[in-house]
Amino acid sequence: MKARDKRERTGLGRALAAELETVSESGLTRRLRRVEGRQGPEVTLEGRPVMLLCSNNYLGLADHPELVRAAAAATERYGTSAVSSRLVSGHMSAHQSLEERLAGWKRQEAALVFSTGYQANIGVISSLAGPGDVVVSDELNHASIIDGCRLSRAGVSVYAHNDMDSLAHRLEEARGARRVLVVTEAVFSMDGDRAPLADISRLAKAGGAWLMVDEAHSAGVFGPRGAGLVAELGLEREVEVQMGTLGKALGSFGAYVAGSRELIDTLVNKARSFIFTTGLPPAAAAAAEAAIDLVEREPERATGLLRRARALGLRLKEAGLDLPQLDSQILPVIVGGADDAVRLAEELLERGLYVAAIRPPTVPAGSSRLRLSLMATHTDEQIERAAAEIIGAASKLGISERAA
Ligand code: PMP
Repeated sequence: MKARDKRERTGLGRALAAELETVSESGLTRRLRRVEGRQGPEVTLEGRPVMLLCSNNYLGLADHPELVRAAAAATERYGTSAVSSRLVSGHMSAHQSLEERLAGWKRQEAALVFSTGYQANIGVISSLAGPGDVVVSDELNHASIIDGCRLSRAGVSVYAHNDMDSLAHRLEEARGARRVLVVTEAVFSMDGDRAPLADISRLAKAGGAWLMVDEAHSAGVFGPRGAGLVAELGLEREVEVQMGTLGKALGSFGAYVAGSRELIDTLVNKARSFIFTTGLPPAAAAAAEAAIDLVEREPERATGLLRRARALGLRLKEAGLDLPQLDSQILPVIVGGADDAVRLAEELLERGLYVAAIRPPTVPAGSSRLRLSLMATHTDEQIERAAAEIIGAASKLGISERAA
C-alpha cells in the first residue's frame, strides 16, 4: 500500500512538473511575494523597502487605527472565529450589525455578508439563474462572475466590453428564456474603466432582464457616502442586485450583496457558497463597519485619491505611455507582451516601486500590462517619484519611444 502511494505521488509530481514547465516557457509562472508589515504606501517586500502601487487598499484603511481598534475590540468580545456556517451557530451579532449598516449605506432593504467576494458572486449567480435561463455577461467580468455563470448551468451570453450594441444584441437573442440576468462590474478590475450603468440598466429593463452590478472596485471610492457607482448614478432602484467587497477600499475582508428582502432571503436559502461555509470572522465584520463610518465621514479620501490618480495618469500619457483611460484609481499601463510587462515590473522593483505585471489568463493575450493602483495615503511626493521612475523605466526598456 505504501509503495503504491509513493508511486502515485511520484507520477503526480512528474505530471505537474511538466505542466509547470509549459507555463514557465510561456513566461507566465506566478509566484508569491512576501510583504512584511502593514499594507501602507511603503512596505517591505522580502526585505527590501518599496513603494506599494498594486494594492487594493484604495483608501488606506487597512492599516487605519480605527479599523485596527474595531477588529481588536470585536475579537475581545466575540472571539476569533464564527466557527460555523451562519445557518448553524455562526450568525453573530457582529454580522447582523454590519448587515444593517450595509443596507442603510446602500439604501437597500437588506444586505447579506459573504465570506469572500468570490463566494458572493458564485452564490448569487447560481441562485438567480439555472438551466433554461440566460446570464448576459461583459467579456471582461471577473473570474468569480465567470465561474458563477458556469456553476449556474444557465446559458451564458457574453457581450463585447462596455459595448451597448453588443449588449442589446445579446438581450434580443435571449428573449424567450425563462429569466435573463445581466451582470457587469461597475469599475473593471484590470482596466479601471467604468461601465455605462445607466445605459445597461435601460437596456436590461427593455429586455425584461434583471441587473447585477459588482462594485468591488467602486464601493468606497465613488458615489454619495462612498456607496458606489450605482448610487452615484441614482440607480439604486433600478439595479436589482448590488454586490461589493469588504477587502478592498473598505480595508477589511469579505463581501456583501444588497437588494430587496426577497433577494436576501433567497440567497440565505439557496446560495451554496453562503450556506456551506464558515461565517466571516467577527473582527473582519467590525473592521468593515468602522470603515463605512470613516468613508461617510471623510469623503475627501476618495476625492483626493481620484484627483491624484488622474494627475498621475495624465503625466504618464503625456510621456507617451499607453493608458486607455483615467476614469478611476486603477490605471492600466498597456505594454503588450507578457515578457515586456514582467521586465518593466522588475525594472521598477529595482527602482523601489512594487507594481504588478498582469498577464494572461487574467487579461487577453497581447494586452499584458502594469496595473497601477493608488491609495489615498500616497503623498504627492510619492506619486511624483512614481511617475518619474515609471517613465524612466519604460524609456530604458524602449517600451515607449516617446517616454522621456
Ligand atoms: N469581483 C471583482 C470585480 C474582483 O476584482 C474581486 C477580487 N479581486 C472579486 C469579485 C472577489 O473578491 P474577494 O477577493 O473578496 O474574493
